[in-house]
Parts: sequence; structure tokens; C-alpha cells
Amino acid sequence: MGLPPALGKVYLVGAGFGGPEHLTLKALRALEEGEVVLHDRLVHPGVLALARGQLVPVGKEGYGARTEQEAIHRLMVQLAREGRTVVRLKGGDPMVFGRGGEEALFLKEAGIPYEVVPGVTSAVGALSSLGLPLTHRGLAHSFAVATGHDPSLPLPQADTLVLLMPLHALGGLKGRLLERFSPETPLALLARVGWEGEEVRLGRVEDLPGLGEGLPSPALLVVGEVVSLYGRLLP
Ligand code: SAH
Repeated sequence: MGLPPALGKVYLVGAGFGGPEHLTLKALRALEEGEVVLHDRLVHPGVLALARGQLVPVGKEGYGARTEQEAIHRLMVQLAREGRTVVRLKGGDPMVFGRGGEEALFLKEAGIPYEVVPGVTSAVGALSSLGLPLTHRGLAHSFAVATGHDPSLPLPQADTLVLLMPLHALGGLKGRLLERFSPETPLALLARVGWEGEEVRLGRVEDLPGLGEGLPSPALLVVGEVVSLYGRLLP
């Protein structure tokens, strides 16, 4: 009987929100080291092109179905037990609506060594790359990030609100937003930022849900006075 192979390692890596220029050096190193790369749909093709290992698409955009998630857990553990270096590659930051926490817990319980590699989250980077500040003296001194996919959840209190996964719930979100913002409050829908087909739609709370009609995904919703600065800060 031979010895079991030494345990491999799993890197839970954030790929950033757009093209490969938003990768961290640490993420790039993990991509060069990983023998198997389990990646989401939200990872830009330019990032995948930098991986040296075998590419395996898993999961869906954002929250994958529960069974898929369990299959991903099992696959990571199995590969690591075979001694492989695994990169679990996610759009943005792995700990922002990316199930990175669940995956880390599962690996910990299975005794698999892992490391979390942060990424530039779309919740911040998609705005700043378009010249939209999240805070601005006199306009906004706080921001909050929440999921928009379930309008039955209360929205957080902040001057600037960033809602991820909002597209299927814009009607319900309008009602929620009107509880705290005036109908004239500016908002922006940012779709596919940093990807082909990038699209920005500007409007006001009262323009929902129609403003989002036909918009491609992934997209996020920004609400607050900072949106009035759009187009005024870029050189
Ligand atoms: N972990 C990711 C978020 C996963 S949830 C992160 O940190 O960015 C998926 C949601 O992220 C999408 O529904 C959308 O709201 C947002 N998103 C991700 N990439 C995006 C992009 N390039 N442009 C606009 N929104 C994006």
C-alpha cells in the first residue's frame, strides 16, 4: 500500500470585476500555480486566459443553485485530497456575495489547507472605474452594499446604496427605495462594466422598473446623490 498523496491546497481567488487589469499580483500568482481552476461565469475571459491549469466552469452567476454549490464543495475537497493545487476563481471579491465564506468553512471542516485572495469587488470598482465616487464631501458620507434580488428584505441605511443582482426585482425595489429616497433621487444601472457590451443607464427612482428593460447582465444599481456626478469627474 502506497502512502496517500500529500494534501493539495485551495486558493479562493477574487478575479476582480472586469478585465485582467483588475487582478491583484497575488491572484495572478495563484493563477500561474493552480493546476485546476474552478471558475464562475462572472470571470472575464481575459483573466481565464492567464490561467495555466485546467479550466473547469462551475456554478452560475452570483448565487448558484444549492446542489451545484455542494458539488463544488465536494470537487474542491476531492482535488485537494489528490494532491492538486486548486484555484476557485470568482468574479469580484470572493467574500462579497460569492459564497467564499461557505466554501472556506467547508474546506476548514474537511481539513484542507486554503487561502483567500481578495479581489476588486464590482460593488466598488465598477463605480470608481466609471468615475462615480461612492462618497463625496457634501453629497454622501456613507455607502452600503446589499443584494437586490429579494425586495422583501429591508434596505440598509446609507447615503449611497449599491444593490447587486437587482435586475429581476426592480419593481419591488422601487417600493423599497421610495420608503427612504424621494422619487427624484438619481440612480444608475451599470451593466457589464469592464466587459464587452458595457452599458450605463441614468435615471431617477421614479423611472424604475422600466429603466432596466432589456439591460444585459450582470448589472448593479446605484442610488444616491453621487450619481449626479456621473460624467463630470473623468478627464
Ligand atoms: N463577488 C462579486 C459579486 C457576485 S454577485 C463581486 O464582488 O463583484 C453577482 C452580481 O455582481 C451581479 O448580479 C452584479 O450585480 C454584480 N456584478 C459583477 N460583475 C459586474 C460587472 N462587471 N458589471 C456590473 N455588475 C457586476
